[in-house]
Amino acid sequence: MHFLVCGGAGYIGSHMAQWLAAQGHQVTVLDNLSTGHREAVRWGELVEADLLDPASLERAFAGGRIDAVMHFCASSLVGESVREPYAYYRNNVAGTLNLLEAMRRHGVERLVFSSTAAVFGNPVSELIDEDHPKSPINPYGASKLMVERILADAASAYGLRSIALRYFNAAGALPQHGIGEAHACETHLIPNVLKAALGHGPALKVFGEDYPTPDGTCVRDYVHVQDLAQAHALALDYMDTHPGAHAFNLGNGRGFSVREVIAAAAEVAGRDIPCEAAPRRAGDPAVLVASSVRARRELGWSPEWTDLHAIIESAWGWHRDQAF
Ligand code: UDP
Repeated sequence: MHFLVCGGAGYIGSHMAQWLAAQGHQVTVLDNLSTGHREAVRWGELVEADLLDPASLERAFAGGRIDAVMHFCASSLVGESVREPYAYYRNNVAGTLNLLEAMRRHGVERLVFSSTAAVFGNPVSELIDEDHPKSPINPYGASKLMVERILADAASAYGLRSIALRYFNAAGALPQHGIGEAHACETHLIPNVLKAALGHGPALKVFGEDYPTPDGTCVRDYVHVQDLAQAHALALDYMDTHPGAHAFNLGNGRGFSVREVIAAAAEVAGRDIPCEAAPRRAGDPAVLVASSVRARRELGWSPEWTDLHAIIESAWGWHRDQAF
């Protein structure tokens, strides 16, 4: 099959391209390289195009019939979305609309969409399943939820088949393939912990130690990017027999606190991690842990990276090789 991977030069998209190529599929990567990296496009052709520029978008569809689209392009920083909501709605909603219209023009009827745990807002239950109320508390989550709604409307109006996959905390890397998490301005916990361990960044700031959690720091559900790629492939199979718009939550179903992540990383790296207490970060819920029962049952998803140490070790293998 021929896949268009939008955002394939980015963190999760590059792991998707690797997975698809390993299964023998043809991959075309669409990316504007605003946050992605040319060197992360190792599988398939790169078309430099921007979802906000429909003319450039056409080039991605010009290289032969596309069977399905995987859509990873997005602005995805919660804090930034609060400061710059117009940019988030423009990139994430208007950009996606352009993509959907181009797909329609070219008769492409299958889409896997990167959604997020941020569509739920503050959790009202310990584990978050698909039926949990959706009340995003920031423009980032709201923009993704809007697209989910558009996909439901597109299913009834145009017969688009789609699956939104709501990632919890994507983590890990594939150092053997030379891909990992490389954001110009890194805000995520695991890369920041590993950079602090390597002395490539400042001491790690622990954002808030007064949350209602066992050690006072926030609890998150870390899921390996390769397991996310596996879920996308399964989602595609699912669409064969399930028309319409669907959504699944993807996480390991187990939460780890910021302090637990730091301790695990110190063990993996074999050194102390310099860290300091810092105020809470705006918009951070205390606990976010997925119930992925539905993804396991319906998609047959079975994450292989269930051990936090192994996830961190894969990221460490990649970070050690980088000259930040
Ligand atoms: N965090 C932290 N220091 C950092 C980065 C993150 O204490 O340098 C905390 C953050 O407040 C949150 C957790 O680590 O509680 C996970 O944050 P991340 O940005 O990795 O993912 P998010 O859950 O925001 O999507």
